[in-house]
Amino acid sequence: MSLLAETPPHTAPTLVWRNHFATLGEAFFTDNPPTPLPDPRWVAWSPSVAADLGLPAGWMDSTEAAEVFTGNRLLPGSRPLASVYSGHQFGHWAGQLGDGRAIWLGEIDTPTGPQELQLKGAGLTPYSRMGDGRAVLRSSIREFLCSEAMHGLGIPTTRALALTASPAPVVRETVETAAVVTRVAPSFIRFGHFEHFSAAGRIDELRRLADFVIDHHYPACRQGGNPYAALLEAVSARTAELLAQWQAVGFCHGVMNTDNMSILGLTIDYGPFQFLDAFNPAHICNHSDHGGRYAYHRQPNIAYWNLFCLGQALLPLMDDQQQALDALEPYKTLFPAALQRRMGAKLGLAEVQPGDDTLVEDLMQLMAKDAVDFTVLFRRLSQAADGPLEPVRDLFLQREAFDAWATRWQQRLHGQPGFDPASTRQQMLRTNPRLVLRNHLAEIAIRQARTGDFAEVQRLLKALQAPFDERPGEDDLAALPPDWAAGIEISCSS
Ligand code: AMP
Ligand code: MG
Repeated sequence: MSLLAETPPHTAPTLVWRNHFATLGEAFFTDNPPTPLPDPRWVAWSPSVAADLGLPAGWMDSTEAAEVFTGNRLLPGSRPLASVYSGHQFGHWAGQLGDGRAIWLGEIDTPTGPQELQLKGAGLTPYSRMGDGRAVLRSSIREFLCSEAMHGLGIPTTRALALTASPAPVVRETVETAAVVTRVAPSFIRFGHFEHFSAAGRIDELRRLADFVIDHHYPACRQGGNPYAALLEAVSARTAELLAQWQAVGFCHGVMNTDNMSILGLTIDYGPFQFLDAFNPAHICNHSDHGGRYAYHRQPNIAYWNLFCLGQALLPLMDDQQQALDALEPYKTLFPAALQRRMGAKLGLAEVQPGDDTLVEDLMQLMAKDAVDFTVLFRRLSQAADGPLEPVRDLFLQREAFDAWATRWQQRLHGQPGFDPASTRQQMLRTNPRLVLRNHLAEIAIRQARTGDFAEVQRLLKALQAPFDERPGEDDLAALPPDWAAGIEISCSS
């Protein structure tokens, strides 16, 4: 990516703004312009998101675009606002929250359909509560890179268009500096938006919101039966798929509060997230999560708990409680089936058969006992589908236990009708990523960025957008983490 202009002069693109969310009415938001930041400069922008939005590369490189995506200048047609939502945080009703530092610029028509743009860290809103409306460079680099990394992995997520930095001081545990991430999604509506109106007994607004989401994102829910129960079931199905994808790639979200759950089943609000290094099912990535509520192995049940909150919120729109329970029920079978399918694919299995669950479970137990690296294990296993087992075996301390498992795996693999080692290897290499945004990789980029050098952020962006590819010069990104990685502590502070 070039940060230099390619084809001057660069006029601002003409965007077609729709701003559908604003048509919901003022109960849902407050008009709120971003607060400018001094001396914004580019850290990075995503060429793939810019292309999807129809934003010319030459303009993206410009100072004007950096001003726009910092919130210092508005594009004509944009209507900046902050929305109100509530939510359950760490299992407790937290009451009103809302966009405390995210400002919606509006919705634009794009070749990939309507997309909403949001600036995170763009200043105070009526929902900032005790916060300052800002985001620090550290957490913004993590959100920017992980959004694009998740998309590269094929996992539903809000996208990240842009990342700008300002020297403006922001006080957290220490004094840091400000940054703004431009997020992009078809909708930023969260479970918490529904909880907000439901808890206040504002049923007209609740229905308006549900109708809005159905009309714009889940039109099939109108085909017979109660549309709101159908919506709950459709969101549950998407969430089940999302959770299966998280678990299968070793992703811990870290703060699965209901206000951080997307109604579209997207990964949203990257804070203290982590991709597992050494496999530990009970891993807690959020230093502030003392009880381990959001530990890796609890995520699927927490998602169900959160869907239950959504069901509770939608209850006034349904015929009875049973209708909500029935809509939630499929999650209990959809999630395990989706996970089994994905874990099977990670082992090179084309179809799920009885006994595959134990094959997966036994491997995970061995990995946990020996603290085997999650990503490296599955990558090496892919190669072993058509090559020697030694590189996989080397990851284990209990070699005999691994050998016994590997024999079962190979029998199952080779027993597949028409088994072809080379194509299975290829399929596994497209399923098991070489690169994930490990904590220490983000940390290295952050340390460099603090000196004003954004080259590592840009290198990571490029690499993580194609995480299954073997490319020269990226071996350090695919390697086992250094010892100091285990000592990195990521908290909610961002
Ligand atoms: P999070 O844990 O980042 O999902 O945030 C939870 C709530 O706190 C949301 O309503 C955020 O908008 C709000 N919030 C977090 N950090 C800040 C901040 N620095 N300034 C204002 N609001 C914030
Ligand atoms: Mg949040």
